[in-house]
Amino acid sequence: MARDRMMLDVVIVGGGPAGLNAALMLGRCRRRVLLLDAGRPRNAQSRWVSGFLTRDGTEPFELRRLGRQELASYPSVEIREAEVASAATRDGGFETILDGGDRIQSRKLILAPGLMNDVPDLPRGRDFLGRGVYPCPYCDGWEHRDQLLVAYGPPDQVRGLALELSIWSSDVVALADGSGEVSEPPRRSWAEKGVPLHESAVEALEGDPEGGGLERIRLADGTVLETSALFYAFDECRQSHLVKQLGCDMSEKGAVDTGHCEKTNVPGLFVAGDASRRVKFAVVAAAEGAMAAFAANTELLKDDLR
Ligand SMILES: Cc1cc2nc3c(=O)[nH]c(=O)nc-3n(C[C@H](O)[C@H](O)[C@H](O)COP(=O)(O)OP(=O)(O)OC[C@H]3O[C@@H](n4cnc5c(N)ncnc54)[C@H](O)[C@@H]3O)c2cc1C
Repeated sequence: MARDRMMLDVVIVGGGPAGLNAALMLGRCRRRVLLLDAGRPRNAQSRWVSGFLTRDGTEPFELRRLGRQELASYPSVEIREAEVASAATRDGGFETILDGGDRIQSRKLILAPGLMNDVPDLPRGRDFLGRGVYPCPYCDGWEHRDQLLVAYGPPDQVRGLALELSIWSSDVVALADGSGEVSEPPRRSWAEKGVPLHESAVEALEGDPEGGGLERIRLADGTVLETSALFYAFDECRQSHLVKQLGCDMSEKGAVDTGHCEKTNVPGLFVAGDASRRVKFAVVAAAEGAMAAFAANTELLKDDLR
């Protein structure tokens, strides 16, 4: 079958667990793949990736390095450090345009751009992200088990988080962010569960983000919480502009509404990893990448048989 030499089978945007695993599966299917990655993962500041079978506790960039090393065995896969400026459907396939202006044509497109973190508005909150300020107790609760854990967020969300944290420690404090009144019934149930509630503003996060991480939190009313872990309850993430540009249907919660095997409403376009709608774990992102690769490969085969 004659093929356009310039036309790639699949372009993958994003070189995190989702994009790398998609490239791995497609490389094994001998598909011509270009993976484009800007190198800014969501967990860049974290000390470890937990809960990833055989890689529990691996540093985030080490996990990526290992993924890329494995891809080197598959000659039809190319990786390029590049920022994708835009992407659009074109002639039944896709055109992806890089920051420098390069245009790349592909039959299928897998978006795995992750999400951009919006960290709560805490003094030095961004510095401590992954170093004592965490979005997810499943990822970092174990490392801080049986210590004082702080649940932080809007009054209507912080209670649920505080109760969840009691899985990891019996010493949990709720810290409302001042964005609203704390109503009486939850206040009472906090007391019943033995979870103290603080409503004073956070004045300072203290410790060394480059060293041991968070050590304590100072509140405006003079309270000092000796803690190495604050977990926040927020809708904390923003999507890549590419998702909107390509016209993806979105869920109410702002994730791309993918269906079977990460398919989107746009034919030939798949969205895998944190950007799609499921649980936001690295191992789930990798599995979604593999599913998107499976579906893209199946569509390519069917297209060729038509
Ligand atoms: C502080 C913190 C700690 C975490 N800890 C854990 C943990 O311990 N265990 C766990 O399972 N999960 C953890 N997570 C979640 C985990 O980071 C994500 O689930 C995982 O990284 C998602 O993988 P992904 O491939 O979808 O996206 P990412 O890993 O975020 O990778 C996306 C990649 O796409 C690139 N990209 C985006 N847009 C473009 C573009 N336009 N052009 C080119 N490239 C682009 C980005 O630069 C990035 O390199 C943590 C998250 C945070 C914020």
